[in-house]
Amino acid sequence: MSTAPNTNGPHPHHVASATLARPRGIDQIVAGVSTSDGDGVKLTRVLHQPLQQRLDPYLMLDAFGSDNPGDYIGGFPSHPHRGFETVTYMIAGRMRHRDSAGNEGLLENGGVQWMTAGRGLVHSELPEQEHGMMEGFQLWLNLPAKDKMRKPWYRDIQSGEIPEFVTPSGVQVRVIAGESHGIAGAVQREHTEPLYLDLTLPPGAEFAQPLPPDRNVLVYVFRESLFVGSSEIPTKRMAILANEADSDGVLLRAQASNHSPARALLIAGKPLHEPIAQYGPFVMNTREQVLQAVHDFQNGKL
Ligand code: MN
Repeated sequence: MSTAPNTNGPHPHHVASATLARPRGIDQIVAGVSTSDGDGVKLTRVLHQPLQQRLDPYLMLDAFGSDNPGDYIGGFPSHPHRGFETVTYMIAGRMRHRDSAGNEGLLENGGVQWMTAGRGLVHSELPEQEHGMMEGFQLWLNLPAKDKMRKPWYRDIQSGEIPEFVTPSGVQVRVIAGESHGIAGAVQREHTEPLYLDLTLPPGAEFAQPLPPDRNVLVYVFRESLFVGSSEIPTKRMAILANEADSDGVLLRAQASNHSPARALLIAGKPLHEPIAQYGPFVMNTREQVLQAVHDFQNGKL
């Protein structure tokens, strides 16, 4: 099963390079926590609760990847969500989702499911394969207080529907959300203005992404390693980038001595600066709202 990005998408674009005068440095490198969730799915919780304020508006990032079915076959049976959005990106594998509103879809190689839980739903996310590689990510994006009780929404975005472009230095860019080098991504959001890029950098290539200093930014490397200035982000590590007041963006570089392309997620967002109250799959602004969510779930209102 190929894990290369889809270069045969409907709209391959060539774009000009961006230039930066004062790129950001690294604030910290995070290894994440090995854990399991759902029915025994092994994963690494890269962004966990203690980092939620630092990476506001993002609440969680899980990375999963295994060719051992015992690590993923149980999937995520029926469970509720309220108050935020889940973004599932499948690098390899097939996962079927069903929800309490009667929606159903299949997420596979290179596709994204963007789900807005809003006031709440109950859904399942189950592997539709009994062997082979299952690799991907689930990101949780917070909703502003005024939208937490909005109507649930979701969209399955097939791999070929994700806008892509190639920079002059040969970096392949998949724009899942936001905008990069003039190319609009598959999803746009007001308030948090999420940027979600999947970058593949050939040996020696650089990638520049202008971003205002107030955006919180993480880079998760999952093939080879990348450099920010003279600091290395090793594979399977997340770098939280600094928010220097005079910085103008993010500059990533792959070592010329790499034997294969480096690959990373570049994720940025505008912080909400609102209180975060979480109990498991419910993320609200106050403890009372979380207790209401538990009550509503127990009474079958999700
Ligand atoms: Mn879920």
